[in-house]
Amino acid sequence: MLQATQTVIEQALLSLGYGKEMVDLLREPMRMMTVRIPVRMDDGSTQVFTGFRAQHNDAAGPTKGGVRFHPGVTAEEVKALSIWMTLKCGIADLPYGGGKGGVICDPRRMSFRELERLSRGYVRAISQIVGPTKDIPAPDVMTNSQIMAWMMDEYSRIREFDSPGFITGKPLVLGGSHGRETATARGVTIMIEEALAASGIPLQGARIAVQGFGNAGSFLAKFMHEAGAKVVGISDVHGALHDPEGLDIPHLLDRRDSFGAVTNLFKDTLSNEELLELECDVLVPAAIENQITAANAARIKAKTIVEAANGPTTLEATHMLHDRGVLLVPDVLASAGGVIVSYFEWVQNNQGYYWTEREVDDKLRAMMVRGFRDVYELHRTRRVDMRLAAYMAGVRKTAEAVRYRGWV
Ligand code: NAD
Repeated sequence: MLQATQTVIEQALLSLGYGKEMVDLLREPMRMMTVRIPVRMDDGSTQVFTGFRAQHNDAAGPTKGGVRFHPGVTAEEVKALSIWMTLKCGIADLPYGGGKGGVICDPRRMSFRELERLSRGYVRAISQIVGPTKDIPAPDVMTNSQIMAWMMDEYSRIREFDSPGFITGKPLVLGGSHGRETATARGVTIMIEEALAASGIPLQGARIAVQGFGNAGSFLAKFMHEAGAKVVGISDVHGALHDPEGLDIPHLLDRRDSFGAVTNLFKDTLSNEELLELECDVLVPAAIENQITAANAARIKAKTIVEAANGPTTLEATHMLHDRGVLLVPDVLASAGGVIVSYFEWVQNNQGYYWTEREVDDKLRAMMVRGFRDVYELHRTRRVDMRLAAYMAGVRKTAEAVRYRGWV
């Protein structure tokens, strides 16, 4: 994952006319901190967890990015994700560089209080390098608004003043923003509208297949259904459901569990592999990485793919799809809605004045549409695939900031 990211970063910088020194600087995070966090468990024992915080580059502003709690977290993954955050912030033209954090743990096997102690311990361990004008964390895989609340409280205690701008994704009563929970799905919805418009296909009646029915996938299916599109397939970790006339999305939303599973309630299911190859207009991978690879790219029938998940398509598959004329809206553009509304939350915290959901949605739409048009224009005029175009649009701001500061 890190290597593939570095390959495209290098191609993007060279295509923009930057030299080897810039590539050298931006192919790795400028700072990577590894911490060990002792946590008193409920049974009285102490368990020591390993955590990371990567800061890719802060030339364009403080770094920004989520913290994931997952048993599979690695230093390499956190580094790659911090670079992706630079790209998302650059495409959306936010005054940030990219950051990312992670702790190797399994929150599903921890109690509420153990999770609180781990969250506070992580903040104490990284407190020297984070802050509202340094590096601003947010939720990511298996972290949520409660965890953000504990982290904000711990940071405020250390600094001895209220610091809502230290972290985003907070509950509304602690300075969270309207629209944060649905931001990623809203952003993906806007990308589907733009991509379909670019291909001359009306959204009304368009056939959409969504892999993953969690936070991103289920809200997306809901928004698509409400907009009059036909959601012909959805899937989760257990399997997939398919109806060429459109699934009953409100019913499925009603039946899904808190981990985004619903297909286990049905008999006639497809596999996730079959879902990806369904006859449809738009395919939205919204589950996990490496789903579209050289092995299945040739069998994908959708003419438009919008990546809600991080890293669902390999580089080889990206090239195969591009050669076949499939319009792929890459993750660093399509899933930027989350960090955009995180930015709005930070702005609201800084000014102490809060916006309505409507204001958040309108501003999000304007930023996502501009991002899509910038990337699409580069893709058309420079004749490069959409992923390389997105990397070019994304890394440009940080590279320019580095040059103005005279670092390279
Ligand atoms: P989630 O945990 O809420 O949901 C994940 C969904 O994927 C569930 O329905 C689960 O059953 C399904 N799933 C898990 N393993 C699967 C497998 N092997 N095959 C098919 N389905 C599988 O996660 P989420 O927050 O919706 O995130 C999904 C993706 O979107 C991730 O790649 C994440 O990084 C990305 N993303 C999410 C956000 C956000 O705000 N939620 C923002 C940016 C990117």
